[in-house]
Amino acid sequence: PAADRPILQLTDIWQRFGGLVANAEVTFDVPRGQILGLIGPNGAGKSTLFGIIAGARAPVQGQVVFEGRDVTRLDAPARCALGIARTYQVPRSFDSMSVLDNVMVGSFSRHTRAAAAREAALEVLDFTGLIGRAGASAGDLTPPEKRRLEVARALATEPRLLLLDEVMTGLTPSEARKGVELIRRIRDRGITVIMVEHVMEIVMPLVDRAIVLNLGRVLSQGAPQEVVRDPAVVAAYLGD
Ligand code: ADP
Ligand code: MG
Repeated sequence: PAADRPILQLTDIWQRFGGLVANAEVTFDVPRGQILGLIGPNGAGKSTLFGIIAGARAPVQGQVVFEGRDVTRLDAPARCALGIARTYQVPRSFDSMSVLDNVMVGSFSRHTRAAAAREAALEVLDFTGLIGRAGASAGDLTPPEKRRLEVARALATEPRLLLLDEVMTGLTPSEARKGVELIRRIRDRGITVIMVEHVMEIVMPLVDRAIVLNLGRVLSQGAPQEVVRDPAVVAAYLGD
């Protein structure tokens, strides 16, 4: 039955940029309703893989199956309509627009009437703790608020799979704790989360499963406490 099927299945994904191999032989399933941590050193191919899942570009080889459907050749708006949303490592909000209008860009993908899009956007702002900043210009937000706005914009598209690319980077420990709490609440809404994160102390307690990429390939995967003890992972990190 559909409920038991992985929400996402990646099979033998390859991506090349000229002579550089950014992803190679990447194969894994993402169970529905979980938080998956995607970790690995800088340049490991994590953001490239997010682009392949969200439809920024097609892989040179391999298959992306979302909810049982082959989406490999669908573009990003089509995948968004099916329920895949992502944030970007470098925030992409519209600085001159208000926080509310930024989020409405997302909610208009689900609601054609402005009043309904606005109501949905306000609900997302409330959920993400940004409601008090709804009227501010996005450009005036603090860095942690900008990260939150990225998450809010993605949530406003009402995804079933949410890809978070380094949303904790640059946060103080107390802001990061709030971020962790937000990600848990997102998962509790039934949204499957894949998160790229560098800080192991943040990722490991939060995720149900972890996948380590190194030089574009899956180096290790499993329960977080198993993955951190995997000799291949220890060697890759010590050698980094
Ligand atoms: P990560 O997110 O794990 O740090 P990336 O996926 O951003 O890694 O990058 C993987 C590799 O692919 C890096 O060597 C990077 O320089 C290269 N790369 C990523 N995007 C492009 C691109 N658009 N053109 C050329 N090379 C790229
Ligand atoms: Mg990256």
